[in-house]
Amino acid sequence: MPDQDPPISCPLDGTTMERVNIAGVAVDRCPACCGIWLDRGELRAIMESGARGRARIEAWDRDECDDSCGRPNPLLCPRDRQRMSVHRDPRQQHVEYDLCPKCGGVFFDAGELKDLTHVTIAERLKGMLG
Ligand SMILES: [Zn+2]
Ligand SMILES: [Zn+2]
Repeated sequence: MPDQDPPISCPLDGTTMERVNIAGVAVDRCPACCGIWLDRGELRAIMESGARGRARIEAWDRDECDDSCGRPNPLLCPRDRQRMSVHRDPRQQHVEYDLCPKCGGVFFDAGELKDLTHVTIAERLKGMLG
């Protein structure tokens, strides 16, 4: 299971990423650029964790340590070295993430996951209220 995986290296700068627990989901974060790596299924798990997961992301996904201007293109997947492709969230065009076509992992620059979860959960609440 993912908890037993060896540490992975940040696709942006090669720093060994640290494991962070978000509402029961173990995700990998780069201590240098604050980028976040999610394996397949982990994004959905965080989205479905609701307010608890969002509070954790708000607490540590910091825009201010973003250094994405130096990013290589394309990024290589830290798990299988596949070239990752850039995607934009259909509802939030400013949110970009890199997706590995082989393992389904995604990499978010600092602050982007927070933006994504913020609006998605807000929209869901709006839908529930009618
Ligand atoms: Zn990094
Ligand atoms: Zn991959």
